[in-house]
Amino acid sequence: MLGKMMDFQLTIPVVMRHAARIHGDTEIVSKLADGSLHRYRYADAFKRAAKLAGALEKLGVKQGDVIGTLAWNSYRHFELYYGIPGVGAVCHTINPRLSDEQFDFVLNDAEDQWVFVDADFLPLMSRLADKFKTVKGYVVLCDEEAMPAHELPNVYCYETLLAEQSGEFDWPELEENQACGICYTSGTTGNPKGVVYSHRSTVLISLTANTSSSVGMLPEDSLLAVVPMFHVNAWNIPYAGAMAGAKMVFPGRFMGDGQALAELMNAERVRFASGVPTVWLALLQYLRESNTKLETVERLMVGGAATPLALMQAFEEEQGIFMQQGWGMTETSPLGTMNMPTPSMMAMEKDEQFALRKTVGRPTFGIEVRIVDDALNEMPWDGKSPGSFQVRGPWVCSQYLGIEKADAHTEDGWFDTGDIAVIDSKGYVSITDRSKDVIKSGGEWISSADLENAVMAHDKVLEAAAIGVYHPKWSERPLLIVVSKPGEEVSEQELKDFLETQVTRWWIPESILFTTELPHTATGKISKKDLREQYRDFSYEG
Ligand code: AMP
Repeated sequence: MLGKMMDFQLTIPVVMRHAARIHGDTEIVSKLADGSLHRYRYADAFKRAAKLAGALEKLGVKQGDVIGTLAWNSYRHFELYYGIPGVGAVCHTINPRLSDEQFDFVLNDAEDQWVFVDADFLPLMSRLADKFKTVKGYVVLCDEEAMPAHELPNVYCYETLLAEQSGEFDWPELEENQACGICYTSGTTGNPKGVVYSHRSTVLISLTANTSSSVGMLPEDSLLAVVPMFHVNAWNIPYAGAMAGAKMVFPGRFMGDGQALAELMNAERVRFASGVPTVWLALLQYLRESNTKLETVERLMVGGAATPLALMQAFEEEQGIFMQQGWGMTETSPLGTMNMPTPSMMAMEKDEQFALRKTVGRPTFGIEVRIVDDALNEMPWDGKSPGSFQVRGPWVCSQYLGIEKADAHTEDGWFDTGDIAVIDSKGYVSITDRSKDVIKSGGEWISSADLENAVMAHDKVLEAAAIGVYHPKWSERPLLIVVSKPGEEVSEQELKDFLETQVTRWWIPESILFTTELPHTATGKISKKDLREQYRDFSYEG
């Protein structure tokens, strides 16, 4: 027997209708390039999304067309998040930190028809435009007075296009399995790969994000999305927050600026914010230097890269803020696991509590996980047996754009994340490495994540990365590369002595090198690929 329920399609316009009608008065606040604040309400945003839909129609955009966005987090980008999928087109968010080659590649691979760009990215587009094979023109996200000079053909002003529209738009009926967005993987090996989200996958993950065992947003909450809107739908905050009716705060181009973030948080009474560890490090540094207190923030969500335990402890001790870690990737839309506080966790002694909190948490509902050996035998969830971390669920990528078979898939339908993890008996997952970054010393694994975490607990260390380098006896040994905090000096021996108190002795690298800056990828993660290249000539003597 089939269920007798409505065949109601889970699409982004459903989110928009709900937020416009039920939470129409809720504010969206954006920090603009000149530092001033723009504020309006959901009802205004969706009225403008309807104008945008009319403008897209005027530009000849059809269902299935891919429309690029190259923009910071702001209210106009928010409108694109709804207007583009709303007309049945596909919103391809482009990371401005890509290399020139990667830009050409992703725009051509996704076959972008139009690109909506922040004014400061127009020179970049002008420089690369010759290489774009499918782009018909550009729309600059500003008003007429702010239009930059350019030599590109078919450039329109966003506000002028919107001003021509009435705001009455007959939104089409969409199927939930239609594509709504594309985001490319970071491309640490080879070309980036296009991950194509559907309306259904996006609505489902946003619903899950709103459960209290996951991110748990509330009506009248104030959220600051520091995680960029050009990367994995800003972890779906623009959709999940709208479903919940939460106030949205966008930092514009100031996402790496500790002072700007702190001011925005206090002024807009932010309760919850999301971002990668690097931005929280920058924020912490500013808070310390300026002796500033975040008055309203209760939780900081962190993910996208391993979070140093010292960072979590510092926010808790110095600011009384709970930092919660999650794990995800472009291919998992990204929410996979989340480490929410539970009553039993909060009742633990601090040491025990932090040992649990430094894990990436448990799979959120909808995501199933397993760890396996090379022959796909499942490894036990005993908190110590590492295996390849594999996941499946309704918002996990099944195929990459333009690649017939998603090559990371196992025969039995699991997505291989490329991460190595251990899982404890309660389902808490610890990511110990990327599979290509593991350090295997004398046949035994050393977790680069744990080693980095250990050294970053030292007060004089700002950032650190561990890579495996050739060793004639052990075949590989770790090499730690450390950036010390500004104005601090720390010696190799001091760090080795400190590590003795943190990790098992054979993990301690024979060499620790110092540098002023570590290489980062376009999404702000430490690029181990570049680091291995930089230290290619380093090797241990036997
Ligand atoms: P991306 O697709 O660029 O978002 O990168 C996804 C990868 O980031 C994952 O496969 C992990 O290697 C890494 N990652 C994400 N979140 C975490 C985390 N909380 N701890 C450690 N690594 C993480």
